[in-house]
Amino acid sequence: MNDQAIQMNEDGSRSTDRRSFLRWIGAAGIGAAGMAAQTSVIASPLLLRAAPATRAGTGDSIARLSSNENPYGLCDAARRAIAAGLDRANRYPIEEYVELKEALSEKHDLDPARIHPGAGSTELLRAAVGAYAAGGRLVAADPTYEDPFYYSPPFEVTQVRVPLDADGAHDLPAMERAASGGARLVYICNPNNPTGTIVDGAQLEAFIRRVSRKALVLVDEAYHDYIEDKRYRSMTPLVREGLPVVVTRTFSKIHGMAGLRLGYALCGTEELADRLHAHLTFAGASVVAIRAGLASLTDVEFQTYCRGKNAKARRFLSAALEERGYRVFPSHTNFVMFRLGTDVRELRKAMAARGVRIGRPFPPMTDHCRVSLGTMAELERFVGELDHWRKARAA
Ligand code: PLP
Repeated sequence: MNDQAIQMNEDGSRSTDRRSFLRWIGAAGIGAAGMAAQTSVIASPLLLRAAPATRAGTGDSIARLSSNENPYGLCDAARRAIAAGLDRANRYPIEEYVELKEALSEKHDLDPARIHPGAGSTELLRAAVGAYAAGGRLVAADPTYEDPFYYSPPFEVTQVRVPLDADGAHDLPAMERAASGGARLVYICNPNNPTGTIVDGAQLEAFIRRVSRKALVLVDEAYHDYIEDKRYRSMTPLVREGLPVVVTRTFSKIHGMAGLRLGYALCGTEELADRLHAHLTFAGASVVAIRAGLASLTDVEFQTYCRGKNAKARRFLSAALEERGYRVFPSHTNFVMFRLGTDVRELRKAMAARGVRIGRPFPPMTDHCRVSLGTMAELERFVGELDHWRKARAA
């Protein structure tokens, strides 16, 4: 059923797979209860035994290379925490919020009052647009992760899009010029989705020090945990320093928790944290998501395992694409973007018909293709299907 939902969105509109899926649930009249009834969820031991199949990527006949998910599932500690956390499912996650804020406070050396968890970093990005950009100008790269622009219409935000440079990276000088035209919020996605590129750490820090005198800077570090390149720097030290900067992180990527919905924001000042809080729902993250997140934070071995597998997959896919003559952006994430040279919708449709889902179009780069890094088996399948498609086109 997911296939239909995901493949419905072939028109190049900017809605995401997740959104199509939610619309589809609505259209089919299947609410959360119906979904739960269809999916037999048994806490333990079945829940715990699901891990190896998920990790091997064998449980799904569809190759999901479209949403930058972690194909290796949850770490075992998170699985156990969910099973145990079910005993707390009748309670609001008040103690869990406190515990998570304390754990994140220790991890980032930041006052818990300046940390807000949310139902995925999506909730925090939306709140940030409402809290910091309403009625003003929001400057962001083009293309970048669409959520801040996507959520801006109700807040009467003027969207200012600054094209990426020729290497698919943020054009910081151009963004600074755009920001000096009276921006309220500047969004930097580092590494950038959909290109996977990073901004040089020293340059970004200098940019933020100048720009944050006039506008708030929101740095989305969703893919932080995949980075191995020394030129990258997290902007959390600037948050600690008290600059007008907010950094968002997520448990959806290396922690493999996209379906559980957990992320957080680190705010440069308590005043910024309070403004963000006013736009958040009460306890958006669930007891089980927080329990899983707390456990996953401690499982460094699992994160190292995923980072290693991801790096190997990235090398394989980048090399396979380059061998075929495609220009590939240097990726620091769990996806790779390359210049297909033709409208990606054509390839997307052909791949979908063969059970391989690839990334949506990212206007204005609709002749580029983004492939999420699944398992090696899934990527080999993608490369085989790409060859098949190329051959059919050439005939
Ligand atoms: N930020 C970026 C750059 C992303 O690519 C994504 C999801 O793909 C998100 C945020 C949303 O993540 P979450 O699942 O935490 O809402």
